[in-house]
Amino acid sequence: MPKTRVDVERFYKLLAEATPIPKGELEFINTFTLLVAVVLSAQATDVSVNKATEPLFKIADTPAKILALGEEGLSRYIKSIGLYRTKAKNVIALSRQLIEKHGGEVPPDREALEALPGVGRKTANVVLNTAFGEPTIAVDTHIFRLGNRTGIAPGKTPREVEDKLVKVTPAHYARHAHHWLILHGRYVCKARRPECWRCPIAEVCRFKGKEIGGIEPPPAKKTVRPSSSRARAKARRSRTPGA
Ligand code: SF4
Repeated sequence: MPKTRVDVERFYKLLAEATPIPKGELEFINTFTLLVAVVLSAQATDVSVNKATEPLFKIADTPAKILALGEEGLSRYIKSIGLYRTKAKNVIALSRQLIEKHGGEVPPDREALEALPGVGRKTANVVLNTAFGEPTIAVDTHIFRLGNRTGIAPGKTPREVEDKLVKVTPAHYARHAHHWLILHGRYVCKARRPECWRCPIAEVCRFKGKEIGGIEPPPAKKTVRPSSSRARAKARRSRTPGA
């Protein structure tokens, strides 16, 4: 196991205590719909994907049903998601490939997954971890930032961070590591202002700015209330559009 300056066992123990069973936020009903949801989520929020896939998966939850919709039919369901035309093409093509090469099932191995249209390493990692329980870690923007900021897995590229994370993560935490990290990066260790004052792993994090960058809650914004009724009326007028 490579040396890291972070107490990795404690790092995960604290995350696990805060969220014993972390859950990803993409909605799906089987392994195939998980794969489709992850493909659709590239450069889009989970919320926007869930909104589009809720009615879609009700009528099409298998490769054959998606294929029957056709590219135009599928596009109608997912047009609120960015890059939907390319994604529709990919989802139709991957459905066809699953039927032709894998008996309509999602294959449980990386090579076969990455050979599917629109499926890269990150998507394969999510499917392998979430559907097949593999100890993979898909490094997105949140995990990339967290790996570097905390010092647990510094790296210049997502692949470098992924490889380090896989190496340093103790086996007994590997199953949930991906979701602990992604949720922590998304909701606590945010890009612009990490919320160190409520961070469960602050004691092991190596981020230098944690003492000055938010170990305390930011001061509440004060609203200065005009003292006289004339001043209050003036302030109201200045807030009225066109006033
Ligand atoms: S202490 Fe701050 S920088 Fe470190 S992981 Fe927590 S939120 Fe992120």
